[in-house]
Amino acid sequence: MIGLGIESTAHTFSCAVIEKNGKKGKILSDVREIYRPPKGEGIHPREASRHHIENSPTVLSDCLKEAKITIKDLDIISYAAGPGLGPCLRVGAVVARSLASYYDIPIYPVNHAIGHIELGKLLTGAKNPLVLLVSGGHTMLLAFLNKQWRVFGETLDITLGQLLDQFGRSIGLASPCGRNIEELAKTSSKYVTLPYSVKGNDVSYSGLLSATKSIVQNSKADACFSLQETAFAMVSEAVERALSFTRKKELLIVGGVAANKRLSEMLKNVCKRHGCKFFISPQKFAGDCGSQICWTGLLENQVKKGVSLENTFVTQSWRLDSVKINY
Ligand code: AMP
Ligand code: MG
Repeated sequence: MIGLGIESTAHTFSCAVIEKNGKKGKILSDVREIYRPPKGEGIHPREASRHHIENSPTVLSDCLKEAKITIKDLDIISYAAGPGLGPCLRVGAVVARSLASYYDIPIYPVNHAIGHIELGKLLTGAKNPLVLLVSGGHTMLLAFLNKQWRVFGETLDITLGQLLDQFGRSIGLASPCGRNIEELAKTSSKYVTLPYSVKGNDVSYSGLLSATKSIVQNSKADACFSLQETAFAMVSEAVERALSFTRKKELLIVGGVAANKRLSEMLKNVCKRHGCKFFISPQKFAGDCGSQICWTGLLENQVKKGVSLENTFVTQSWRLDSVKINY
């Protein structure tokens, strides 16, 4: 079974081809182009969608070339139907619909967040993990029960990715800023006290963002170091509580922020204390990519024949805990 997956929820336009044999999946190609706003600015949905429209033909043809297949070899097509930015989502959906209707290939709308989790499970081999999803659009702690991912804790305001990106932009970095903040943080070890806000199993980052902006005039490096230490300690506390409560023996981190070495170092220590296995998505596949959508579509295909073109919706708000998983 060969699938094509199309991701276009925010900054990334990506197409991937995966070959599925039983429970195994082999990524044959994963090609992407990332929209980068001007320094100091965030994603402009119209500009991002223009970027996706302009790049979609080359990304798609490079992806098929790299996988050494043609469109006619595809058994299914999946696209990210949400959550995400409306104008961006529509680009992926239009490409998927056009191919599916012209070539008569079954089509699958996929929840982007579920995609992060399923690809993480495929690539790490985690079986029944507590999942920490940390990305531009999500900060969530999840456990699977009775066919649905249940939210154990989440952010009450902005996500961890937004915290890093918004702070980074305020000091003139180009978005996405997580990687640059990580580099700057490595050059300091001076901790400046910042507000630490864990409420039950949830975290709140907006006060931390304002406070970090107010200490930055002394040293950007100290501010980045202190921001990371505080934000990651907060999420680690929530993970530790969730591990004690759920008694899960595996922790899986997925989403773009999973690329951060300091975050994984802290969470590895939490896992050690709880006798829990630590899994992390490989850096190349931690952030948004076509493979996450492709693999989830292939899993859906085990139990569903695809949807009719009238049902190829896109929806900006589509919570992952509302998705029933039957495969
Ligand atoms: P995603 O939405 O899953 O593609 O993740 C994008 C988010 O990951 C953005 O907010 C980035 O700033 C963040 N990110 C990427 N690399 C790193 C890193 N090394 N450290 C922290 N955050 C990162
Ligand atoms: Mg994402």
